[in-house]
Amino acid sequence: MNNSLLTPTYLFSPVQEIKNNLLQSKGVQLLVKRDDLIHPQVSGNKWRKLKYNLLAAKEAQQNTLLTFGGAFSNHIYATAAAGKVFGFKTIGVIRGDHIEPLNATLAYAEKVGMELHFIARSEYRKKEEVAFQQNLQKKLGPFFLIPEGGTNENAIKGCSELVEEVAHQLPELPDYWCASCGTGGTLSGIIAGLNGEKKIIGFSALKGDFHQKDIQMLLSHVSDTLKVSDTLDNWQINTAYHFGGYAKFKPTLIDFINTFKQENNIQLEPIYTGKLFYGIYDLIKNDYFPKGSSILAVHTGGLQGIAGFNRRFGNLIR
Ligand SMILES: *Cc1c(COP(=O)(O)O)cnc(C)c1O
Repeated sequence: MNNSLLTPTYLFSPVQEIKNNLLQSKGVQLLVKRDDLIHPQVSGNKWRKLKYNLLAAKEAQQNTLLTFGGAFSNHIYATAAAGKVFGFKTIGVIRGDHIEPLNATLAYAEKVGMELHFIARSEYRKKEEVAFQQNLQKKLGPFFLIPEGGTNENAIKGCSELVEEVAHQLPELPDYWCASCGTGGTLSGIIAGLNGEKKIIGFSALKGDFHQKDIQMLLSHVSDTLKVSDTLDNWQINTAYHFGGYAKFKPTLIDFINTFKQENNIQLEPIYTGKLFYGIYDLIKNDYFPKGSSILAVHTGGLQGIAGFNRRFGNLIR
């Protein structure tokens, strides 16, 4: 495997300040942690989540990674890319039918060497069961398993490094740290990295109120290894901006993403980061953040998904 896994060149994504009339009139500062620029293929939070998993796989002398995801999954794309870059064989267990031609996400994954296995949704639901995983081992040989979305203790450790980076990049830590939540692994890492300092807001990309409990659980798993207090209460989940649920959207969200790109030359996508920034702007408009606050929004990447989204819904994202 390539040594560059540990070199910091991939790790320090820039922090960029957004300026406009809204921010000026409300007296708040908005900074973007550009994790979308970490790596051209292994982008955003998926890189942070994979890093210590790749090191753990290497330590376990396992050269095959197996993971799970839907047909448009950023995690599948990133794992395939990371396997190619760092010399692992990769297997993707994909939820649903094998549809030809493959969409852009899966076509890329296959092109860079990922072996794709399509399984029915009813089977996919069993992916965390021991018997199911043993069956996969029997069929496919030994592998290092990375869960769906990449979220585990290694992932949280990787995401917590975002905080150390920002501490090096800015004269002081921002007052509010905002990120989109799928599984909540990324937010857990940020909460762990801040360990009681400042305030963290997770913007749910999915419908439902499971994040609070899930993140509490994830944090309790890392409280020893990462030396994180297990009574942190400086974080919350905002469930007001999921636009109907995972991968659901409305024209206002699409307009926001296209306008944001025009104004700031930063591309967002409709599944996670578009909803995050829409939510932050809405909170700013409604005076949620006190005058003088600094807000850091994490751009978690995921831009690979736009091609598939546009093909499905008709080039909505410009
Ligand atoms: C996967 C993903 C998320 C969600 O991350 P979690 O750690 O699962 O909460 C957010 N943004 C983007 C762009 C993603 O690809």
